[in-house]
Amino acid sequence: MPFDDLLLFANAAIDEIKSDSFTQENLAKLNAVFPPTLIIAALDIIDRGNVIPYETPWGHKEYEILGSTARYSVLLDIKSAPLPYSCTCPAFIYSVLMAETHIMCKHILATLISRRLKRSPTRPASANDLAALYTRQFPLPENRAARG
Ligand SMILES: [Zn+2]
Repeated sequence: MPFDDLLLFANAAIDEIKSDSFTQENLAKLNAVFPPTLIIAALDIIDRGNVIPYETPWGHKEYEILGSTARYSVLLDIKSAPLPYSCTCPAFIYSVLMAETHIMCKHILATLISRRLKRSPTRPASANDLAALYTRQFPLPENRAARG
């Protein structure tokens, strides 16, 4: 299936998820688009409460995903790029952008499902909070040295 069609199909499957529950039917539709391992990994991230939405006073929404070894930042609803989302993880860069073997990484899928389920309350974030978020994800060499 061409990439754009897959994306449309994925969006339709995700939009069918209702805020009260994640059903077998939801799972079956996601299975038609995504590899089972990706879905399981995404649901695991949600179960652990590792999707943290932030919203600034000026309406910028950003999601921090706590991975087992690192934290990643997910943006959704991007309008000016070929893909409507992005993630800072290596899988997004290699499997989605470069090899084009996947339409999204597990962090983006987890964020999209979590947003439908309304599981995680949005945290208000200031400019300082966002700066702290970026510093955690992209530590400067001197920060690393200070910690180590
Ligand atoms: Zn990712």
